[in-house]
Amino acid sequence: MFRSKSTSETGPDVVLIGAGIMSATLGILLKELQPEITIAIYERLDVAAAESSDAWNNAGTGHSAFCELNYTPQKEDGSVEIKKAVNIAEQFEVSRQFWAYLVENNIISNPQSFIQSIPHMSFVWGEENVDYLRKRYKALQQCHLFHNMEYSEDHGQLAEWMPLVMENRDPKQKVAATHMEMGTDVNFGALTRELFKHLQQMDGVSLHFNHDVRDLRKSDDGGWTVKVKNRETREKNVLHAQFVFIGAGGGSLPLLEKSGIPEGKGFGGFPVSGQWLRCNNPEIIAKHQAKVYGKASVGAPPMSVPHLDTRMIDGQKALLFGPYAGFSTKFLKNGSIFDLPMSIKANNIHPMVSAGLDNIPLTKYLIAQVRQKPEDRLDALREYFPDATMKDWELEIAGQRVQVIKKDPVHGGILEFGTEVVSAADGSIAALLGASPGASTAVSIMLNLLKRCFREEVETEAWQQKLKQMIPSYGQSLLNNPDMTAKLRRWTTNVLELKQMETA
Ligand SMILES: Cc1cc2nc3c(=O)[nH]c(=O)nc-3n(C[C@H](O)[C@H](O)[C@H](O)COP(=O)(O)OP(=O)(O)OC[C@H]3O[C@@H](n4cnc5c(N)ncnc54)[C@H](O)[C@@H]3O)c2cc1C
Repeated sequence: MFRSKSTSETGPDVVLIGAGIMSATLGILLKELQPEITIAIYERLDVAAAESSDAWNNAGTGHSAFCELNYTPQKEDGSVEIKKAVNIAEQFEVSRQFWAYLVENNIISNPQSFIQSIPHMSFVWGEENVDYLRKRYKALQQCHLFHNMEYSEDHGQLAEWMPLVMENRDPKQKVAATHMEMGTDVNFGALTRELFKHLQQMDGVSLHFNHDVRDLRKSDDGGWTVKVKNRETREKNVLHAQFVFIGAGGGSLPLLEKSGIPEGKGFGGFPVSGQWLRCNNPEIIAKHQAKVYGKASVGAPPMSVPHLDTRMIDGQKALLFGPYAGFSTKFLKNGSIFDLPMSIKANNIHPMVSAGLDNIPLTKYLIAQVRQKPEDRLDALREYFPDATMKDWELEIAGQRVQVIKKDPVHGGILEFGTEVVSAADGSIAALLGASPGASTAVSIMLNLLKRCFREEVETEAWQQKLKQMIPSYGQSLLNNPDMTAKLRRWTTNVLELKQMETA
């Protein structure tokens, strides 16, 4: 069992840095597993979930790999690799189970405040892309998690699924789409704020807004000394904790560097900013009811796959198109232009330069995106919505992502597009770097973190039982168990008040 070994009488057992979805998920998991644990959460802004986790800063897709083509790359022999997609689909089922547990246990009161059923679609045009999508569909049919997927090349069928996309489209254009009725839209901001609201009411939890974590030092007792500055009063404070989670989103890399742990050496960050077009015409918004993901252009980072997205935010239906990628040296939307230069250290300059040289097409792509004019953005939108006119759309700034750069024995350094948990060998500190598939898989990411940093506790009967209560599939693979998947999908569908449908 986790016991505080803190030398300071006032110090919490755990410090969570940042009030985004990751800290919220970890905080709830820890309090459910060990109710007497004490937790202090420090957030530099005056509200929770104001960076990447906010609904308008991310795409709100419940990433289940139903529609995201970047999770199913085409191999050199022409076949489609589905390993990553299957893994992400399973992880999303884990998130659904945990959220259903939270609803059943009144930790979240209203599931509709954060999750809604929205069909997930992939849409492509041109002979080559259609051939790829057909192969992708067939390959995914090998896995029961994707059995409800439908595929069509028929303009009429596609017009039924996504009228806006098909209206005034060249009838001779070769097109194809897949349709997955059981997709979701998730308001990660609303979910995060609900989780913090609950945490704040619990004994032994304190949440400090307007507090910037400035420094971290390993203490002699194996814990951590954390330096915090109140951004309103400018008062500085030092506290001690047994375990620290750096869940600072884009702000995680600088804090990991400050911790000085050897496992954090060699990591760098590459910031990619984003913009959306947000529709302001209610008639157009009403006509679309899907998340339609396309294929990324050459050189584009995987998370810049264009999509025409129905969103449900605070009870209102919305329509977004994008993201258009951009470049800014900030690591947070509310960050500083010095974030990138300040993150360059002797131990990561080589991986960063090597990754830069290996990713020239990405650099070219980002430069082209930054130089885009409104007409260029409209052209991109018209590929998905031929009748679009600029007066119905406004440009919005999306969240900032910091892609992970890490050492690589062959290339010197590589740029990665996933998430990476970096933890000290003794499990006393962990940081989350990267962004994708991110919030949708927060529960699996945090379960993995628990295994690394709370090794002994996770093995105890008490934690095992509680983990299985919260996530009934915990410790088992859904992939070998279609019956369990179907049962759990029915349960999560009911509790999360999602659209009922035949489950695999
Ligand atoms: C454009 C875009 C689209 C995306 N689309 C999706 C999607 O469709 N589906 C999906 O699942 N995921 C998506 N993601 C990823 C997802 O948003 C992130 O993975 C997730 O929100 C990260 O949560 P977090 O808690 O790690 O970080 P954040 O939500 O960024 O929270 C980190 C917090 O730490 C605070 N902080 C930073 N530094 C400090 C410090 N020194 N002291 C105190 N506090 C600090 C910040 O202010 C912030 O509140 C998208 C991201 C972006 C940017």
